[in-house]
Amino acid sequence: MSNGAVAIDVRDVVKTYALGGVEVRALRGVSFSIRAGEYVAIMGPSGSGKSTLMNLLGCLDRPSAGSYVLDGIDVSTLDDNALAAIRLKKLGFIFQGFNLLARTSAMKNVALPLFYAGMPTRQRNAAAIESLRAVGLGDRTDHKPNELSGGQQQRVAIARALVNDPAVLLADEPTGNLDSQTSEEIMSVFGDLNVAGRTIIMVTHDEDVARHAKRIIRLRDGLIVSDGRGAD
Ligand code: ADP
Repeated sequence: MSNGAVAIDVRDVVKTYALGGVEVRALRGVSFSIRAGEYVAIMGPSGSGKSTLMNLLGCLDRPSAGSYVLDGIDVSTLDDNALAAIRLKKLGFIFQGFNLLARTSAMKNVALPLFYAGMPTRQRNAAAIESLRAVGLGDRTDHKPNELSGGQQQRVAIARALVNDPAVLLADEPTGNLDSQTSEEIMSVFGDLNVAGRTIIMVTHDEDVARHAKRIIRLRDGLIVSDGRGAD
């Protein structure tokens, strides 16, 4: 579901890496826009530029040429500090390996981005509990990661990604460490979040996972080779 506003606009983006005197052209002129409320999968064979694109979308790197506008802000020329601030404010990240702090409760894990944003303890704990409820873990707030199943750990990571109310959720192989049944469980959480209006972009190599998205952008050799509705 899309409510119209442009969340992401990528225009003629090129990313070139210099590797031992040789130029590697990881992205060779990529353009697309994603509206608020869209659910998009990015697919492509190994080496096609998916990680490079996700790093740019995630404001972890800058394009060599072209522009990237995120939620109305041109981020393509910002310095590292400004990019870090944008990440904290506008983006939620979900990784294959969950990236949770092992000895820390679900609530504290989820509250962490708000700690970096400078929010007082009581408020951030309340927001974390609210976010855990949104992913069906309202009864697991005091559990540590090793007291949770893989699917539950990924839900905690999703709650953490949601806690700053980001403009865009970015997921990198979010089901890569999960069995097929748990993958379906996580895809159902993504589906619910999208129905609730969340903008989701995920990289996956798994067609069964990508099918849950409403739109699939396929990359090959640093170019978009197709961009359209999901397989269904
Ligand atoms: P994918 O995620 O689809 O596997 P990548 O974005 O990782 O693709 O890589 C795209 C191309 O850019 C590949 O040819 C890869 O070898 C190259 N590449 C990626 N990162 C770097 C880097 N830091 N330095 C040099 N070349 C890189």
